[in-house]
Amino acid sequence: MRNNVDVLVIGAGPSGTISAAMLKKAGLSVQIVEKVKFPRFVIGESLLPRCIESLDAAGLLDAIKKKNFQEKTGAKLVLDGKICDFKFAQQYTKGWDHAYQVQRADFDKALADACEEKGIPVQYETEVVDIKFNTDGSSITTVKFLDGTTQQINAKFIVDGSGYGRVIPTLFGLNKPSTQYTRKAVFAHLKDPYRNEHDEPDRITIYVHNHNTWIWVIPFSTGTTSLGFVSSPEFFEKYSGSLTEKYKQMIDSEPDIKSRFRDFEMIWDEPKILQGWSATTDTFYGNGYVLTGNVTEFLDPVFSSGVTLASVSAQRAAELVIKHFKGEKVDWDKDYVKFMQTGIDVFRVFVNGWYDGTLFKIFFAENPDEDMRNKICSVLAGYVWDETNPFVSKSEKMVSTLAKFIEASSLKP
Ligand SMILES: Cc1cc2nc3c(=O)[nH]c(=O)nc-3n(C[C@H](O)[C@H](O)[C@H](O)COP(=O)(O)OP(=O)(O)OC[C@H]3O[C@@H](n4cnc5c(N)ncnc54)[C@H](O)[C@@H]3O)c2cc1C
Repeated sequence: MRNNVDVLVIGAGPSGTISAAMLKKAGLSVQIVEKVKFPRFVIGESLLPRCIESLDAAGLLDAIKKKNFQEKTGAKLVLDGKICDFKFAQQYTKGWDHAYQVQRADFDKALADACEEKGIPVQYETEVVDIKFNTDGSSITTVKFLDGTTQQINAKFIVDGSGYGRVIPTLFGLNKPSTQYTRKAVFAHLKDPYRNEHDEPDRITIYVHNHNTWIWVIPFSTGTTSLGFVSSPEFFEKYSGSLTEKYKQMIDSEPDIKSRFRDFEMIWDEPKILQGWSATTDTFYGNGYVLTGNVTEFLDPVFSSGVTLASVSAQRAAELVIKHFKGEKVDWDKDYVKFMQTGIDVFRVFVNGWYDGTLFKIFFAENPDEDMRNKICSVLAGYVWDETNPFVSKSEKMVSTLAKFIEASSLKP
């Protein structure tokens, strides 16, 4: 492991590896430190087309293509038997027409391995426990190994891509409560022999179970599928027995899911639970550091925005760090914080519109307007920085006006 580097990257998730690969390509010396051993489980299996652009820019796309992950060409939404089908090939923004459905353990390992192949050391089982910043922005980071011993790393700059670890906001008291309501997810990977009956597997399906509860179905190329339930914590209290028994009762409560997973073969010992994931921070950067990915803000999983925001923030952060090292002036507020907030805020409008039911009126309208549909599809593909799309530049107004228009039209005799 290096003791002196230009840039220390914390975390080997998508945001850490994309930043590291871009920085290395620009000739900077980079070291990634990662708390756990890879492959490791992390949630975030449905990707959006926009993140493919960042993987490509970082020179990491070929490593992903080689892994034969399931291609994702769109998303199907289901409410009370009504279907809303988004196909990325039919979208407004000129962008990628597909993404991937990935087991994140394999996806993240492929990215980290590709970084190593590019000559970036990835130090696993190495946890950042302390950072001291000097007035010039350089820093001394203390890392702890599994045996309890520690070591210090001098860096001129730090990229914090520690995801749910939130290293810098936690060490420096920068965490801020999210305005999102606390939600919980219960999920597992299952065998999925009847997927063909459901016109799968090259897209994900989201079922609206009730107005506060939704179900994700993410098929993988291996024949297994990720199936998860998301709701308020109270929703899960009505089920009884072991966690697996509760999960089976949830499956049986949605007819389509019950039929598709009728043989119920889970490939894990038991389902996993996550709760209260929304988080944000006072600042996305500081003297000598930048936060990327989930460390900036994570809203909600419903539109699969997490890895895309992680990838785009990593790309943008790396581009600005490179500028900084060239001695050029960087306007972090405008070119990083404002840029990222623009994309996050578009997703925020959609997330809020999902949970308050506004979007259901649009998604499940009788005769959808094709142009509107294509513009919404681009948001769902992650193209949330395309200001020519009114669902980006005026997202709140467009969503509420369109929903009201559809409602009023449906009331006409
Ligand atoms: C229920 C749920 C479902 C989701 N579904 C989706 C989805 O379908 N699609 C999607 O795009 N997103 C989804 N997400 C979001 C997704 O999980 C994250 O947005 C994404 O993983 C963020 O990537 P990252 O690189 O920022 O962080 P991570 O992927 O979390 O990587 C951070 C890495 O940093 C390491 N680390 C942490 N602390 C330290 C430390 N002290 N020292 C060194 N290393 C450290 C961790 O071990 C980890 O490997 C979902 C989230 C939830 C809660």
